Amino acid sequence: MREQIVAGNWKMNNDLAETEELLGEMKMQMVKEPEVTVMVAPAFTNLYPTFQALKDTPVIVAAQNMHESENGAFTGEISAKMLQSIGVTTVILGHSERRAYFHETNEQLAKKVDAAIAAEMRVIFCFGEELEDRKNDKHFSLVESQLKEALFHLSEDAWKNIILAYEPVWAIGTGETASPEQAQEMHKHIRTLLKDNVSASVAENTSILYGGSVKPANAREIFAKEDVDGGLIGGASLKAVDFLEIVNSF
Ligand code: PEP
Repeated sequence: MREQIVAGNWKMNNDLAETEELLGEMKMQMVKEPEVTVMVAPAFTNLYPTFQALKDTPVIVAAQNMHESENGAFTGEISAKMLQSIGVTTVILGHSERRAYFHETNEQLAKKVDAAIAAEMRVIFCFGEELEDRKNDKHFSLVESQLKEALFHLSEDAWKNIILAYEPVWAIGTGETASPEQAQEMHKHIRTLLKDNVSASVAENTSILYGGSVKPANAREIFAKEDVDGGLIGGASLKAVDFLEIVNSF
């Protein structure tokens, strides 16, 4: 069975005290052995304290971004090696906010993915179409080119460290969710692309998360779809009770 995953992307929210409060609530309310893989991605300044706070739990701490170089004159950036030095071995790459506000391209993301894979990190790779693409019936081809340009050069072996997160941009932070049927339709398409461009085994075994306004009220219906293996959660991951309800929605 494919790994089921719920990952919370805390984005640029919560200072240290607020992070500690959220972690305290999560630890108090969480069952000891959740049935699915749980991940949280705090801001860079809160990565180490979060890692420390969660090290006696199964929750995995992920970074929200990293640079493709090992080190050097890249002011403001963080490398895979730096993340690993504090125990962080998972990274989100290609989030639509990084693509939109920081102009990350598929070409640059391919380099970031290569650097993460070379460092043996796990990657949650985000991609998805804008509303305009969907209106013009270009959503399938847009997603195909995002995957082709950033990921399809990887060796079959590298895919064991790739988690896909389909996040239609029009559903992120908008309250607008893709219907469970729309999510399933795209996830099935993604699996076909993996089969045609990588291998049948990678298509079968790669976890594909859905992201975009997932909340306790809609998580169960979305996660019940055959090709949806969990979710990447933004807003609703900032409230322990909501996040944990989503974690328990399988
Ligand atoms: C996200 O930012 O990855 C996301 C899915 O956000 P939200 O759940 O708030 O739509």
